[in-house]
Amino acid sequence: MRNFYDFTFEQLEEFMPSIGEKKYRAQQLFTWIYKKNVTDFYKMSDISKSSQEKLASLINFKLPIVATKSLSEDKTLKLLVEFEDKSHVETVLMRYRYGNVACVSSQVGCNMGCKFCASGLFKKKRDLTSGEMVGQVLLLNEILAKEGEPPISHVVVMGTGEPFDNFTNVVNFLKTVNHHRALEIGARHLTVSTCGIPSKIKEFAHIGLQAKLAISLHAPTNLKRNSLMPINRAYPLEEVMEAVRYFEKETNKRTTFEYILLKDVNDSLGDAEDLATLIEGTLAFVNLIPYNEVEELGFKRSSDDRIKAFKDYLFKRGIYTNTRKEFGLDIDAACGQLRAKKK
Ligand code: SAH
Repeated sequence: MRNFYDFTFEQLEEFMPSIGEKKYRAQQLFTWIYKKNVTDFYKMSDISKSSQEKLASLINFKLPIVATKSLSEDKTLKLLVEFEDKSHVETVLMRYRYGNVACVSSQVGCNMGCKFCASGLFKKKRDLTSGEMVGQVLLLNEILAKEGEPPISHVVVMGTGEPFDNFTNVVNFLKTVNHHRALEIGARHLTVSTCGIPSKIKEFAHIGLQAKLAISLHAPTNLKRNSLMPINRAYPLEEVMEAVRYFEKETNKRTTFEYILLKDVNDSLGDAEDLATLIEGTLAFVNLIPYNEVEELGFKRSSDDRIKAFKDYLFKRGIYTNTRKEFGLDIDAACGQLRAKKK
């Protein structure tokens, strides 16, 4: 049995002839399912009885289920999503002025072991399939529809997991949510955040989709980055930066650097200077992230003054920065707090 949501449009077009169906069935199916919300083959009136039976014997529409829901004061919604094998991830809905943003998880657990992040407290159990990522968006859309709100307009792959450690499924997921016969979310509204795997950053330039790239930088020198992000020992900053420059050259798009400010660790003016020097000459944009404290990990958030001074310095060096707006702190739904907690 195949899960419908695992198919990209192109994959379904290939699959149909392999089961003796015409290629154009893919179009019909995508329209019924993603546009008309009909997920019962027997209700698809332009498909013959025998084809309906065949399809029903081969394809299911299983979606993950919502195990728990928490709503924060700022109306951020966090879902604990449960898959068929009983594993769990968290999915977050953020309501920005410009639209409804889904923060999607890409793996159950994470192997990257970043010292400041709650998600890494649990080793990776498995990759999510592309259908399981599509499912997270569909669950949020279902909830939004019930509340009479517009559907998800933006997706960030910034939940639990390292998306480039699950590259193919993540790219297929992006293709499906972007496809004009599916959810039609504009490629520029899709962002993938990575801890920095150079070969995949380069490959991402050629997926045929103008999706955006964010790099979790968090330290401006190898010495500091090695101590915060073990992945840096395998792929040091020079290699990450080389890949980012390649991505920018190939796509003409600016990359976002994410930089968490950790008190007395990476938030001094010297760090800001190193950071400016590191990224000078890229089209870069820096997203400064006030640290969300995770009890077990011991790091502290930088003071607002420190954050402002850091930001002002980058500005003086001509680097555009933004301080990330925080959502859902009170329900542990903010960056780095996702860990598939039951309560
Ligand atoms: N593995 C990917 C996707 C996770 S994105 C990546 O590393 O980019 C989640 C973002 O939140 C990353 O930039 C991550 O470094 C950051 N983050 C992790 N822990 C955090 C915390 N406690 N407070 C604020 N941001 C955090």
